[in-house]
Amino acid sequence: MTHDQLTFIDPAHRYPATSAPEQSQPEPGLESEMIPTPDIGAETYRGTGRLKGRRALITGGDSGIGAAVAVAFAREGADVAINYLPSEEEDARHVAEIIETAGRTAVLLPGDLSEPETASRIVEEAVDRLGGLDALVNNAGRQIAVEGFANVTDEQRHETFETNIHAMFRVTQAALPHLEPGSTIVNTTSIQAYDPSPHIMDYAATKAAINNFSKALAQELAPEGIRVNAVAPGPIWTVLQPAQGQPVEALPEFGKNTPLGRAGQPTELAPAYVFLTSPESSYVVGSTIHVNGGQTSP
Ligand code: NAD
Ligand code: MG
Repeated sequence: MTHDQLTFIDPAHRYPATSAPEQSQPEPGLESEMIPTPDIGAETYRGTGRLKGRRALITGGDSGIGAAVAVAFAREGADVAINYLPSEEEDARHVAEIIETAGRTAVLLPGDLSEPETASRIVEEAVDRLGGLDALVNNAGRQIAVEGFANVTDEQRHETFETNIHAMFRVTQAALPHLEPGSTIVNTTSIQAYDPSPHIMDYAATKAAINNFSKALAQELAPEGIRVNAVAPGPIWTVLQPAQGQPVEALPEFGKNTPLGRAGQPTELAPAYVFLTSPESSYVVGSTIHVNGGQTSP
């Protein structure tokens, strides 16, 4: 589908109503091995220069929502550094190619964010290689489904909190000294922050923390001219889900309980991140944009 064909599309039918087959990958998984492959906007996202000259760091930018944001940012005129786990190099290189085809600089920064020293290393490298930093997208996250609260191990809970929220504090603290007035931070939270599912309750708790953190930080940084906001996706077809994020048997029905009747695709998130990063949203501070197919949200 081209961008022009999107103009009058019925949102319920923008994507064919497929049932994804049951499939499974070890965490964090590779997008290139999913059936069907998620749409990160490679064919459809059209930029209009809204982020011209911006220098962005996107964590988890190799696949899914982060990859769609990287593609959109590049096509809007930004240079983009992406962080991801070393095992995701193949997905990251695919995204880098799209960024470079858009005529922008792509910087690849593998590193495990659950290790405390990764945060400052990737920020410093991004600043070095982009010549500065003015847009941060904290998007990396891990979601491992566990049936039964009693079965959530210390290790599982610890790893989820380290990756999803503790690393977000560290990356943001490392980035702050580099952010001039006019810079932006967008954090990926989730509908799980408001409407948690028991089988991913450690994950849901981190997403509530991220939402709350975004609103507090927004208040502190607004007087310095740095805007902080969040995006809360609903069920989006990304490798997070078949890489142990959901029970395998739930995948064919994934997203079908939304008012639109289907899961979202990563590229459908990108405009929210572009809006919150663009100076056009200059009076939007401490907000959460819900992109969830119509589920009731505050
Ligand atoms: P994804 O698997 O494509 O992206 C998540 C990325 O997080 C991975 O690609 C990986 O690079 C990164 N990551 C995970 N652990 C890491 C670690 N230890 N160190 C560095 N990077 C690490 O899946 P996605 O759905 O695009 O996820 C992006 C964000 O969106 C996550 O924060 C997720 O919680 C959030 N989210 C997703 C959904 C959904 O339905 N897919 C819904 C709400 C929120
Ligand atoms: Mg990935």
